[in-house]
Amino acid sequence: MSSAGTSTVQTTCPYCGVGCGVDAQVSNGVITGVSGTQDHPANLGKLCVKGAALHETLGLQGRLLHPKIAGVRSDWNSALDHISASLKATIAEHGPDSVALYLSGQLLTEDYYVANKLMKGFVGTANVDTNSRLCMASAVVGYKRAFGSDTVPGNYEDLSNCDLLVIIGSNAAWTHPVLYQRISAAKAQRPNMKIVVVDPRRTATCEIADLHLQIKPGSDGFLFVGLLNYLVAKRAIDSEFIEKNTDGFDAAVTASKPFDLEKTATDTGVDIGELEQFFHWFLRTQKTISFYSQGINQSATGSDKCNAIINCHLATGRIGAEGMGPFSITGQPNAMGGREVGGLANQLAAHMDFDAASIDRVGRFWQASRMAQSPGLKAVELFDAIHAGRIKAVWIMATNPVVSMPNAEYVREALAKCELVIVSDCIENTDTTAYADVLLPATGWSEKDGTVTNSERRISRQRTILQPAGEARHDWWAICEVAKRLGFGTAFNYTSPRDIFVEHAALSGFENDGSRGFDISALASLTEDEYNGLAPVQWPVNAEYPNGRARMFSDQRFFTKNKRARFVAAEPTLPHRTDDFATPFILNTGRLRDQWHTMTRTGRSPKLLSHSREPIVTINPRDAQSLGLREGDLVNVYNTDTLGQKQSLILSANIDASVPSDNLFVPIHWNEQFASNARINKLISPVTDPISGQPELKFAQVGMRPVEVLLWLSVISRNPIETGPFDFWVKTPVVNGWHYLLAQTQHENEQGWREWMSRTQDGLEKIELSNTVMHDYRILGCKENRIDVAIFASPKREKLPEANWLQGLLQHEVSGETWRLLTSLEGNSLSQNRIICSCFQISQQQIRTAVSEGATSTAALGKKLRCGTNCGSCIPELAQFLTQ
Ligand code: SF4
Repeated sequence: MSSAGTSTVQTTCPYCGVGCGVDAQVSNGVITGVSGTQDHPANLGKLCVKGAALHETLGLQGRLLHPKIAGVRSDWNSALDHISASLKATIAEHGPDSVALYLSGQLLTEDYYVANKLMKGFVGTANVDTNSRLCMASAVVGYKRAFGSDTVPGNYEDLSNCDLLVIIGSNAAWTHPVLYQRISAAKAQRPNMKIVVVDPRRTATCEIADLHLQIKPGSDGFLFVGLLNYLVAKRAIDSEFIEKNTDGFDAAVTASKPFDLEKTATDTGVDIGELEQFFHWFLRTQKTISFYSQGINQSATGSDKCNAIINCHLATGRIGAEGMGPFSITGQPNAMGGREVGGLANQLAAHMDFDAASIDRVGRFWQASRMAQSPGLKAVELFDAIHAGRIKAVWIMATNPVVSMPNAEYVREALAKCELVIVSDCIENTDTTAYADVLLPATGWSEKDGTVTNSERRISRQRTILQPAGEARHDWWAICEVAKRLGFGTAFNYTSPRDIFVEHAALSGFENDGSRGFDISALASLTEDEYNGLAPVQWPVNAEYPNGRARMFSDQRFFTKNKRARFVAAEPTLPHRTDDFATPFILNTGRLRDQWHTMTRTGRSPKLLSHSREPIVTINPRDAQSLGLREGDLVNVYNTDTLGQKQSLILSANIDASVPSDNLFVPIHWNEQFASNARINKLISPVTDPISGQPELKFAQVGMRPVEVLLWLSVISRNPIETGPFDFWVKTPVVNGWHYLLAQTQHENEQGWREWMSRTQDGLEKIELSNTVMHDYRILGCKENRIDVAIFASPKREKLPEANWLQGLLQHEVSGETWRLLTSLEGNSLSQNRIICSCFQISQQQIRTAVSEGATSTAALGKKLRCGTNCGSCIPELAQFLTQ
């Protein structure tokens, strides 16, 4: 659609696994706005706050624009020559397993496909893993063990068509907001639809729950093994389905025998009445969906937990029909696409494994010169091998393992030691690019061109909207150029992503004959125009299902050898815990509402940061009281890593009863580009599920102690400033500048911060209202009639102004009355005025006032303040305000 100078491009959101369709409005080469695609089946016109702010995260600031070798600007030819010569020499001297790729669920399927083809078919190693290992690997194992195929049975419609929705280990209200709103709307329309949330935390998702089972951390497996036992005891199983279509039922039942109601209640810590209520609802509700995510997957027993859930669906025959089945929701936009092409080190391609027949089949299809013969190293093993020097060269694409991997300091050390680290990224400075020997500028969302697959098996196009910034190039192109230089030119002679996609589609149907669930062979003959116009479609897309297939297993034929589904006899265990008095707290980790991964994109939007502007640790009020903590106080959270090194973070206390006593919650996003010391995975051990290799990212034992702050500073500046003298700093963007929250914790630093203060105002005209005796400083540094920097310092944090108010100073024209700004802080203090609605920048203070003036529903708040009326991501928090 276009009118003079303007056009709309249909593309897909690059954040979460919902895979929302996005209409990008383009005018004169600039994306002026985005909206949800009305007829995209994943989102039906909706976007959450992250998707709605996509156009605000573009721009050249911070982009990596040119290749670099050893930190020095280079050019593509030199960089590609250097990479291929180094890889060639390493492989010749140390063999193919001495090199590795570490990829990302952010990549497009076409990027992923050629990366796997190069390594597994031509270099001869399967050392290709991905950050999806941290996200979905256990779900994959669960499906493959049960169905013989990594296949999500249902689709998003089922989430609103079911009569019972069990949400396990997912704060969908924040992590998958568009799906949550869809569920919420269904619940509003059909109040009899029951929703059960299983989570150790009381999250925003609980706002629509009929029942919240606040289980002990990591005890989900007990819940579903206990449920199987209950269903059997109550004779609520579908014997005919089990008999006709499954294997392994008796063994699963035997394993579940010890877990009667009482024992399950004890093991999970759930009130027995609530437990029985859930079991009873499950028993009597045919249309039941079990919707699960990282709380299940990121566990040392994640694979068994997935199968414990699936077992209950197989036992009741609730699979393959509308509104029923197990449903894992992926974190990343293209985790599913990566799985399709063999993105995990233990997969080959097109859902094939490393059995002899598959190796032969893929080898013949690729005409591969050197097929890998066995699975490669999974993410944690891969970084171990780098640390040990067995892997000498690694190419990291579109991911930030120094932040996202467990044992993060060890991972940093591994990259620092590695002989050759190549990083492809859009962003120049990340915690990982700091260790790159070669940096390759990659295209980002709005520039990339290809496909992604969302959590319901739906393939959608991500389309080019803008020309690549600087010298950025597509990842698939960079891989093919290296492949050509390694001597594999004929197999990598693609001219467009369509060339790659049709080959991938053809491989999916090659010698398939219904043996593999993933089959998109009907797309193997797409022309360029057809590929460009490809409408969202759910795989399989083949001769039998030319328009895709909404639900799998409706024919009760699975992808195991005998076409029968399999029960897995799961034996639940709790995460390993020691009696170390120094680390009495259980740490849980997860996402924030408005941030994504390591903030490389969402951290560029002032709007998205206004909801949560500093690295927090959520603490139960009882624990806070026993440690003498108040909201916003700094705390030290610590433990010892696997190398015996003490690791600690400085976080700000968020006191909230959403976490149980003795438990803590810390968001995963913060890193050293934004905060002094908040990389949470420093505290996470590299414990993994023995089958999936997925790390237990949601469990650590930690200690916590208060940090005394001598002086707090809240600073706004048009330009980045140094943070050197401060033990604690947080740097976030605001409109036209940066906000800094700083803290001095040591007396001996006083000289340092005083010098910092004068350096920061150097060359500026000063307007000051300070009380040096009370250590209360309010200083405006002005230049050419505008405020360039504003420094507010006080020993009391609550006396400092918050960023939203401060950023207004940067718009202010300096006059004789400007000094008055220094006296007008009331009601804007850091602790009082957090933004709740990011779209309209509505603060908690405004919401409280509206509630006190009579707003009694989220609709009434929306009418009065507009909050919740755009993307709707804040509605669960508005509801929480009303409840409070
Ligand atoms: Fe993007 Fe939000 Fe949709 Fe996820 S729910 S795909 S983040 S718009």
